[in-house]
Amino acid sequence: MNKNLIITGLPGAGKGTQAERIVETYNIPHISTGDMFRAAIKNQTALGLEAKAYMDQGNLVPDEVTNGIVKERLAEDDTKNGFLLDGFPRTMDQAQALEQIMVELDRKIDAVINIEVNTDVIKARLSGRVICRNCGATYHKLNHPPKVDGVCDRCGSTDLYQREDDKPETVENRIRVNQEQSQPIIKFYGDKGILHTVDGEIGIENVFTEIQNIIG
Ligand code: ADP
Ligand code: AMP
Repeated sequence: MNKNLIITGLPGAGKGTQAERIVETYNIPHISTGDMFRAAIKNQTALGLEAKAYMDQGNLVPDEVTNGIVKERLAEDDTKNGFLLDGFPRTMDQAQALEQIMVELDRKIDAVINIEVNTDVIKARLSGRVICRNCGATYHKLNHPPKVDGVCDRCGSTDLYQREDDKPETVENRIRVNQEQSQPIIKFYGDKGILHTVDGEIGIENVFTEIQNIIG
Protein backbone atom coordinates (compact mmCIF):
# COMPACT_ATOMS: atom_id res chain seq x y z
CA MET A 1 0.00 0.00 0.00
CA ASN A 2 0.95 3.66 -0.26
CA LYS A 3 2.36 5.02 2.94
CA ASN A 4 0.30 8.01 3.94
CA LEU A 5 -0.16 6.81 7.48
CA ILE A 6 -1.60 7.88 10.82
CA ILE A 7 -0.64 6.36 14.16
CA THR A 8 -3.16 6.98 16.92
CA GLY A 9 -3.88 5.91 20.49
CA LEU A 10 -4.07 7.49 23.94
CA PRO A 11 -1.02 9.30 25.38
CA GLY A 12 1.49 6.60 26.35
CA ALA A 13 0.01 3.96 24.02
CA GLY A 14 3.38 3.69 22.27
CA LYS A 15 2.88 5.90 19.20
CA GLY A 16 6.29 7.57 19.33
CA THR A 17 8.05 4.28 20.12
CA GLN A 18 6.50 2.58 17.09
CA ALA A 19 6.92 5.71 14.95
CA GLU A 20 10.70 5.55 15.44
CA ARG A 21 10.68 2.03 13.96
CA ILE A 22 8.15 2.72 11.20
CA VAL A 23 9.90 5.79 9.77
CA GLU A 24 13.26 4.05 9.79
CA THR A 25 11.92 0.92 8.09
CA TYR A 26 9.78 2.65 5.46
CA ASN A 27 11.90 5.78 5.04
CA ILE A 28 9.08 8.28 5.48
CA PRO A 29 9.05 11.46 7.61
CA HIS A 30 7.71 11.35 11.17
CA ILE A 31 5.26 14.22 11.68
CA SER A 32 4.47 14.49 15.38
CA THR A 33 2.45 17.55 16.39
CA GLY A 34 3.61 17.09 19.99
CA ASP A 35 7.27 17.15 18.84
CA MET A 36 6.57 20.22 16.70
CA PHE A 37 5.06 22.06 19.66
CA ARG A 38 7.93 21.04 21.95
CA ALA A 39 10.45 22.29 19.37
CA ALA A 40 8.56 25.60 19.15
CA ILE A 41 8.62 25.94 22.95
CA LYS A 42 12.35 25.22 23.02
CA ASN A 43 12.95 27.86 20.33
CA GLN A 44 10.65 30.32 22.12
CA THR A 45 8.63 31.09 19.00
CA ALA A 46 5.16 32.67 19.08
CA LEU A 47 3.70 29.23 18.37
CA GLY A 48 5.63 27.79 21.30
CA LEU A 49 4.41 30.50 23.67
CA GLU A 50 0.82 29.85 22.67
CA ALA A 51 1.05 26.05 22.80
CA LYS A 52 2.85 25.88 26.15
CA ALA A 53 -0.10 27.07 28.25
CA TYR A 54 -2.32 24.31 26.84
CA MET A 55 0.30 21.59 27.02
CA ASP A 56 1.24 22.36 30.63
CA GLN A 57 -2.39 21.71 31.62
CA GLY A 58 -2.69 18.58 29.48
CA ASN A 59 -5.24 20.30 27.24
CA LEU A 60 -5.31 20.31 23.46
CA VAL A 61 -3.84 23.21 21.52
CA PRO A 62 -6.67 24.94 19.54
CA ASP A 63 -7.59 23.27 16.26
CA GLU A 64 -6.87 26.24 14.00
CA VAL A 65 -3.30 26.46 15.31
CA THR A 66 -2.69 22.72 15.03
CA ASN A 67 -4.33 22.39 11.63
CA GLY A 68 -2.20 25.25 10.33
CA ILE A 69 1.14 23.69 11.27
CA VAL A 70 0.14 20.30 9.85
CA LYS A 71 -1.01 21.84 6.59
CA GLU A 72 2.33 23.63 6.21
CA ARG A 73 4.31 20.53 7.09
CA LEU A 74 2.43 18.23 4.70
CA ALA A 75 3.06 20.67 1.84
CA GLU A 76 6.82 20.04 2.14
CA ASP A 77 8.52 17.94 -0.52
CA ASP A 78 9.70 15.10 1.71
CA THR A 79 6.09 13.94 2.26
CA LYS A 80 5.55 13.09 -1.42
CA ASN A 81 6.36 9.39 -1.00
CA GLY A 82 4.50 9.02 2.25
CA PHE A 83 4.44 10.26 5.84
CA LEU A 84 3.53 9.13 9.33
CA LEU A 85 1.27 11.47 11.30
CA ASP A 86 1.66 10.91 15.05
CA GLY A 87 -0.74 12.58 17.48
CA PHE A 88 -2.83 14.16 14.70
CA PRO A 89 -5.80 14.25 14.18
CA ARG A 90 -6.97 14.38 17.79
CA THR A 91 -10.36 16.03 17.20
CA MET A 92 -13.04 15.64 14.53
CA ASP A 93 -12.32 19.19 13.39
CA GLN A 94 -8.70 18.12 12.78
CA ALA A 95 -9.83 14.96 10.96
CA GLN A 96 -12.01 17.09 8.66
CA ALA A 97 -9.18 19.57 8.10
CA LEU A 98 -6.89 16.69 7.18
CA GLU A 99 -9.45 15.45 4.63
CA GLN A 100 -9.39 18.90 3.03
CA ILE A 101 -5.56 19.02 3.04
CA MET A 102 -5.46 15.61 1.33
CA VAL A 103 -7.87 16.81 -1.37
CA GLU A 104 -5.73 19.91 -1.96
CA LEU A 105 -2.58 17.78 -2.24
CA ASP A 106 -4.36 15.13 -4.33
CA ARG A 107 -3.52 12.38 -1.84
CA LYS A 108 -5.40 10.20 0.59
CA ILE A 109 -4.77 8.55 3.94
CA ASP A 110 -4.02 4.86 3.35
CA ALA A 111 -4.07 3.43 6.87
CA VAL A 112 -4.75 4.46 10.45
CA ILE A 113 -2.96 2.34 13.03
CA ASN A 114 -4.75 2.52 16.37
CA ILE A 115 -2.76 1.24 19.36
CA GLU A 116 -4.98 0.09 22.22
CA VAL A 117 -3.71 0.08 25.80
CA ASN A 118 -5.77 0.27 28.99
CA THR A 119 -5.50 3.36 31.16
CA ASP A 120 -3.76 1.72 34.14
CA VAL A 121 -0.96 0.56 31.87
CA ILE A 122 -0.77 4.04 30.36
CA LYS A 123 -0.30 5.68 33.75
CA ALA A 124 2.56 3.29 34.58
CA ARG A 125 4.15 3.94 31.21
CA LEU A 126 4.01 7.73 31.38
CA SER A 127 5.39 7.85 34.92
CA GLY A 128 8.49 5.95 33.72
CA ARG A 129 8.94 7.53 30.29
CA VAL A 130 12.36 9.03 29.52
CA ILE A 131 13.21 10.83 26.27
CA CYS A 132 16.50 11.77 24.63
CA ARG A 133 16.58 15.55 24.23
CA ASN A 134 19.02 15.26 21.34
CA CYS A 135 17.35 12.73 19.01
CA GLY A 136 13.91 12.12 20.54
CA ALA A 137 14.37 8.37 21.16
CA THR A 138 11.92 7.15 23.81
CA TYR A 139 12.75 4.84 26.73
CA HIS A 140 11.05 3.54 29.86
CA LYS A 141 12.89 3.26 33.16
CA LEU A 142 11.69 -0.35 33.65
CA ASN A 143 10.12 -1.64 30.40
CA HIS A 144 12.66 -0.32 27.93
CA PRO A 145 15.75 1.22 29.54
CA PRO A 146 18.74 2.30 27.42
CA LYS A 147 21.45 -0.38 27.19
CA VAL A 148 23.86 1.81 29.20
CA ASP A 149 22.17 3.65 32.05
CA GLY A 150 21.65 7.32 31.20
CA VAL A 151 23.04 7.06 27.65
CA CYS A 152 20.87 7.14 24.51
CA ASP A 153 21.27 3.92 22.46
CA ARG A 154 20.64 5.77 19.23
CA CYS A 155 22.81 8.92 19.43
CA GLY A 156 24.98 8.49 22.55
CA SER A 157 23.67 11.66 24.24
CA THR A 158 23.49 11.69 28.03
CA ASP A 159 20.73 14.32 27.99
CA LEU A 160 17.77 12.08 28.85
CA TYR A 161 14.76 13.79 30.48
CA GLN A 162 11.23 13.26 31.76
CA ARG A 163 8.45 15.29 30.13
CA GLU A 164 6.90 18.01 32.30
CA ASP A 165 3.39 16.88 31.25
CA ASP A 166 4.06 13.26 32.33
CA LYS A 167 3.46 14.14 36.00
CA PRO A 168 0.40 12.31 37.43
CA GLU A 169 -1.83 15.43 37.79
CA THR A 170 -1.46 16.30 34.10
CA VAL A 171 -1.64 12.69 32.91
CA GLU A 172 -5.18 12.27 34.32
CA ASN A 173 -6.42 15.24 32.31
CA ARG A 174 -4.58 14.21 29.15
CA ILE A 175 -6.15 10.75 29.24
CA ARG A 176 -9.63 12.21 29.85
CA VAL A 177 -9.34 14.83 27.08
CA ASN A 178 -8.00 12.32 24.56
CA GLN A 179 -10.58 9.65 25.44
CA GLU A 180 -13.45 12.11 24.93
CA GLN A 181 -12.19 13.19 21.53
CA SER A 182 -10.95 9.90 20.13
CA GLN A 183 -14.15 7.85 19.76
CA PRO A 184 -15.68 9.71 16.78
CA ILE A 185 -12.29 9.76 15.05
CA ILE A 186 -11.93 5.98 15.40
CA LYS A 187 -15.46 5.58 14.01
CA PHE A 188 -14.74 7.98 11.13
CA TYR A 189 -11.73 5.97 9.93
CA GLY A 190 -13.45 2.67 10.71
CA ASP A 191 -16.33 3.66 8.42
CA LYS A 192 -13.81 4.46 5.68
CA GLY A 193 -12.40 0.93 6.03
CA ILE A 194 -8.81 2.05 6.76
CA LEU A 195 -8.66 1.55 10.55
CA HIS A 196 -6.31 -1.15 11.91
CA THR A 197 -6.39 -1.70 15.66
CA VAL A 198 -3.44 -3.39 17.36
CA ASP A 199 -3.03 -4.59 20.93
CA GLY A 200 -0.42 -2.25 22.43
CA GLU A 201 0.27 -4.37 25.50
CA ILE A 202 2.30 -7.14 23.87
CA GLY A 203 5.83 -5.75 24.01
CA ILE A 204 7.48 -3.20 21.76
CA GLU A 205 8.91 -5.55 19.12
CA ASN A 206 5.71 -7.63 18.95
CA VAL A 207 3.63 -4.51 18.39
CA PHE A 208 6.02 -3.51 15.61
CA THR A 209 5.64 -6.93 13.94
CA GLU A 210 1.85 -6.46 13.93
CA ILE A 211 2.25 -3.01 12.40
CA GLN A 212 4.57 -4.31 9.68
CA ASN A 213 1.96 -6.94 8.82
CA ILE A 214 -0.56 -4.14 8.34
CA ILE A 215 1.66 -1.83 6.29
CA GLY A 216 3.11 -4.67 4.23
P1 ADP B 1 3.04 7.90 22.99
O1 ADP B 1 3.93 8.43 21.89
O2 ADP B 1 1.84 7.16 22.47
O3 ADP B 1 2.66 8.94 24.00
P2 ADP B 1 5.47 6.47 23.82
O4 ADP B 1 5.88 5.81 22.56
O5 ADP B 1 6.22 7.67 24.26
O6 ADP B 1 3.87 6.80 23.78
O7 ADP B 1 5.49 5.35 24.97
C1 ADP B 1 5.15 5.67 26.33
C2 ADP B 1 6.05 4.89 27.28
O8 ADP B 1 5.74 3.50 27.21
C3 ADP B 1 7.55 5.00 26.95
O9 ADP B 1 8.25 5.05 28.18
C4 ADP B 1 7.86 3.70 26.17
O10 ADP B 1 9.21 3.28 26.35
C5 ADP B 1 6.87 2.71 26.81
N1 ADP B 1 6.35 1.72 25.85
C6 ADP B 1 5.97 1.96 24.57
N2 ADP B 1 5.49 0.83 23.98
C7 ADP B 1 5.57 -0.15 24.93
C8 ADP B 1 5.22 -1.55 24.95
N3 ADP B 1 4.69 -2.16 23.88
N4 ADP B 1 5.44 -2.23 26.10
C9 ADP B 1 5.95 -1.61 27.18
N5 ADP B 1 6.30 -0.31 27.23
C10 ADP B 1 6.11 0.42 26.14
P1 AMP C 1 2.07 14.30 22.53
O1 AMP C 1 3.52 14.55 22.38
O2 AMP C 1 1.43 13.74 21.29
O3 AMP C 1 1.72 13.51 23.78
O4 AMP C 1 1.40 15.74 22.72
C1 AMP C 1 1.77 16.57 23.81
C2 AMP C 1 0.79 17.74 23.92
O5 AMP C 1 0.85 18.55 22.72
C3 AMP C 1 -0.69 17.37 24.05
O6 AMP C 1 -1.06 17.10 25.39
C4 AMP C 1 -1.36 18.64 23.51
O7 AMP C 1 -1.34 19.69 24.47
C5 AMP C 1 -0.44 19.05 22.37
N1 AMP C 1 -0.83 18.39 21.10
C6 AMP C 1 -0.15 17.46 20.40
N2 AMP C 1 -0.82 17.09 19.30
C7 AMP C 1 -1.98 17.80 19.32
C8 AMP C 1 -3.12 17.86 18.47
N3 AMP C 1 -3.22 17.10 17.36
N4 AMP C 1 -4.11 18.72 18.80
C9 AMP C 1 -4.03 19.49 19.88
N5 AMP C 1 -3.01 19.47 20.74
C10 AMP C 1 -1.99 18.65 20.47
